[in-house]
This record gives sequence, structure tokens and C-alpha cells, in this order.
Amino acid sequence: MLHLEVGAGERLLFISDLHLCESRPATTAAFLAFLGDEARRCDQLFILGDLFEYWVGDDDDRPLAVTVAEALAGLHGDGVAIRFMAGNRDFLIAAGYAERAGLSLLDDPCLLHCGSDRLLLMHGDSLCVDDLPYQAVRAQLRDRDWQRQFLSQPLPERRQQAQQAREMSRQATSGKADAIMDATPSAIESAIAGAGCTALIHGHTHRPARHHHIVAGRDVTRWVLADWHEHATYLAWQHGDATAVASS
Ligand code: MN
Repeated sequence: MLHLEVGAGERLLFISDLHLCESRPATTAAFLAFLGDEARRCDQLFILGDLFEYWVGDDDDRPLAVTVAEALAGLHGDGVAIRFMAGNRDFLIAAGYAERAGLSLLDDPCLLHCGSDRLLLMHGDSLCVDDLPYQAVRAQLRDRDWQRQFLSQPLPERRQQAQQAREMSRQATSGKADAIMDATPSAIESAIAGAGCTALIHGHTHRPARHHHIVAGRDVTRWVLADWHEHATYLAWQHGDATAVASS
């Protein structure tokens, strides 16, 4: 597992599940405003996956991707470190886009050492182990050979396949029980126990909450990040205190 150390007093912001897309311009506007304001006042911004609704390769220069890269690069240029962990929608974001946007890429999971805190960071989809069909798709999409084959196709074909995949995902999730698509307690506990973390931060489920788990006799807080709908929402962390913020 990737370990990352940050300064004890640093102000950290965590976001995920913006699902930026041409069809939801208000959310893009909220994100650009957030990058120009709240994000300017932190030391490090952590994006824990599904920044974009879909991603078909770093060579896709659609205006949304370019606009977001320029805004992120501006924040990075102002001295804020930006860490990006891929989600299940934008897992193909790679070194090319990271370079343009000033992102440093994080593996999923990643253990963040921050003073006496050890924060386990994940996108969250790997915790949904009860959803067997989803996990089968996930294994395929994360396969290097599958990714190489996908990326070798012309852009229009990749865009079309991404569109089909989103449609299939919508159909699949509409027929599933809610509990199946949530993080599974046994997977949460084994992730916490394996990392020896003091807190777990993830997104993906779109069920923002603060949960308490007792694992191996220790009290561990699990923060589930909120998905974005036209307004900024983030978790702020400093000096061991966490605050969930939702702008209006
Ligand atoms: Mn997700």
C-alpha cells in the first residue's frame, strides 16, 4: 500500500464524486468557484475519484477536460498540492492529464500519515464486495491488457463505448437493492484492520455520513464523502479535527 506523509498542521480538503459532465454545467461552475476560493486556503486537495462522469483517455481534449485541467493547474501553481485517486468512472486518467492539471496520482488505497493520525483513503468501490456483477466488471476494467486494447481504438469509438457502458450501468443499478450497492461491513473492517488506520475516508456510495466502527478494540471513524449537485461539498481536516462542509 502507498504511504504518504503530510505535515501535522496542514489543512487538507477531501472531495469525490463530482461526476463532472457537459450535461451538468452548474456542478462544473461550482467546482471552478471552489478551486478559486476554498481550495486556495488549503495546503493539499485530495480528489478521491469520479471527478469526471467518464474518461476515455488523456488524449480526449474535450473543452470540459481542458477547462478543468487549466483551473487545477492554476491552483497547483499557487502552491496547493493536488492528489488524485481514480474512481470507477475516471480510472483511465493517467500521467498525461496529471501533468497538464498539476495532479500527483495516488494508488487506491493509500495511507496518509498526518501527525498521530493515519487516514486510510479509498475511492470506495472496492468496499462494495456484495455487488458481485459490479466487482466482475471492475476487475475487467482495471485489467492492464483490457485498458491497452481500449485505448488503442480511435476516440469516437471509445466515446461511443463509454456512452454504452454508462447506459448499462444505469440499467444495472436501477435493478439492484440499495444494500447491495453500499460498502460491506466485513470489507470495511478488514480494510481498517489491515491498514491500522485511525480514520477511513472514501466516497463512491453517494451516502455522505460519519460512521463509527470498533475494530480490534479501537474506535475508528469512517467519513463517507458526499457527491456533488451544483454546490461544493467537502471534508476539511486539520490538527486531527474533521469538518464536513456543504456550501449552498
Ligand atoms: Mn464511484
